[in-house]
Amino acid sequence: MKKYYTCSIFDEEPEIEEFIKEGPPKGNIWIIPLGGMGEIGKNMMALESHDEIVIIDSGITFPDDDMPGIDYVMPDIRYLLLKQDKISKIVLTHGHEDHIGAIPYLVRMINAPIYGSKLTLELVKVKLANTVLEEPAELIEVNAGDKLQSPDFTIEFYSVTHSLSECFGLIIDTPQGRIIHSGDFKARPADEVQDSSSYNVFSEKPVKLLMSDSTNAERIGFSTPEAKVNESLDKIFAECPGRIIISSFASSLPRIKGIMALAMKHKRKICILGKGLETTISIAKELDYITVPHNMFVKMEDIDEVPADKLLIIATGAQGEPLSAISSIANDSHKWVKAGHGDTVIISATPIPGNEAAVYKNINSLFRLGANVIYENPMMREQNLYVHASGHGNREDLKALILMTNPEYVMPIHGEHRHQMSYMRIAKELGYDDKHILCCDNGAVIELSQDGVEVLSYIKLCEILVDGYGIGDIGRAVLRERLNLAESGICFITGIVNMKRREFVQGPFFSTKGLVYEKESEEIMNDAVNTASDIFFNNSIQTLDDLNNGIKSEIRSFFSKRTQRKPIVISMIMEDLEEHDKHSKKRYKRHK
Ligand SMILES: [Zn+2]
Ligand SMILES: [Zn+2]
Repeated sequence: MKKYYTCSIFDEEPEIEEFIKEGPPKGNIWIIPLGGMGEIGKNMMALESHDEIVIIDSGITFPDDDMPGIDYVMPDIRYLLLKQDKISKIVLTHGHEDHIGAIPYLVRMINAPIYGSKLTLELVKVKLANTVLEEPAELIEVNAGDKLQSPDFTIEFYSVTHSLSECFGLIIDTPQGRIIHSGDFKARPADEVQDSSSYNVFSEKPVKLLMSDSTNAERIGFSTPEAKVNESLDKIFAECPGRIIISSFASSLPRIKGIMALAMKHKRKICILGKGLETTISIAKELDYITVPHNMFVKMEDIDEVPADKLLIIATGAQGEPLSAISSIANDSHKWVKAGHGDTVIISATPIPGNEAAVYKNINSLFRLGANVIYENPMMREQNLYVHASGHGNREDLKALILMTNPEYVMPIHGEHRHQMSYMRIAKELGYDDKHILCCDNGAVIELSQDGVEVLSYIKLCEILVDGYGIGDIGRAVLRERLNLAESGICFITGIVNMKRREFVQGPFFSTKGLVYEKESEEIMNDAVNTASDIFFNNSIQTLDDLNNGIKSEIRSFFSKRTQRKPIVISMIMEDLEEHDKHSKKRYKRHK
């Protein structure tokens, strides 16, 4: 493992290293977020006492725009590897990728039972199906109200409303008081709150620290309830003259369940397009979350047999993913589904930041094909129609949880820094001062002791980038090269030289990709060839390595001056082997 990392997780100071390795003194508790702070994604946290570590969640992040070719990003688990023997369990709040995506990678190195809801564990099993393990991972199902007990931690699961079913928040009792981990949540619909006893748990004991989802801390009011989306879709379905094609997150089970119920109500057969959806739906059917009769479904190859106004297609691709069903329908390249006049396409999701361009491209293409496209926009809101609701609570939802739990300290988790800062403002409005709001980054070592809750130190974390089969073998340097390649192109220089006579026997030959249009830039290319040929005027060039390095730097600065671009330059000049051989043979004879 170690060879992949470029930094140590410890600061230079050996006392700090010793202290962190030692762990919290008996009776105190540490919380160390390893991901999910100052970012949305790769949620992971270590909860540590003197004798035990509990891991909460193990997610991945999908890459940023500045990480070309990277499939996903994992949390850095070196801290956990250092203290492997102390790890007693892995607790999962719910089955979203940003909470379970790194499980296959974690269980290869850490052997501890994994606790989660039935659905969460089913989703974990799908992930583990392709993972080869020495011992199978131990998966233990828990329900809301269940408690896991160990000397230092009692962890109780309580159910929360989110965009997936069977999601939990955690009530954690420790020697230093009660900690609440909100999980991903939004406020419960009013009718559920009244008959739900789970929230009453909060009032039993004082809460020392609330760690709260902060994803939507910038959004005002309460979050849109899922029922509102259902109502809107019901209205829209009633008015659609022809086929309905609807796209949502494959993992949004409550939404998909709602859509299927509406299909039954409006007497439309259901066709499922896309692998992600098929997997989720088959798990949901197995667990009896979805109880739609078998004869309601129609295979994609049979859809032409169903009248247009009796068909509903649920498709993947709400985020504009290029290989998804919606994208191929928008490109008019889907084998079975052609969209056109009379069809209604509903995008039941909002673009995740970074996906906007791809989503709107699909929407434009679908309009051009003649379809009516319904998607989240201010016009819809004006008509009081909602085709999507976030699974994360808005300001009022977040406020409600603070008021309900009345914690001594609050800490925004699951959010970018701006979301954490907005959460901070909510807490301040409720009377919290700076000392009682912990706005931390990944790697913070947060201690709960008699003196309160404070950040003691930081461990240094890196990002583990996963590219194809490689985990962690790609660093920022390789990424910079890829970016450079995309932005400035590449230039290869080949040729044969006679080092003794200090001249080119053949070449130098240039070939460029993505740098200049060679035919139109004859002048630049000629000058480049001359610059490379002149390299022998530089007396410091003695060996072939000197020559290749010299050419590389000369040509880089040449292009930088002439084109304002800094391409990757690869110089592969070779030596005239015949000359070289004669030379070495002579030497060999002399030696004899
Ligand atoms: Zn989630
Ligand atoms: Zn999440």
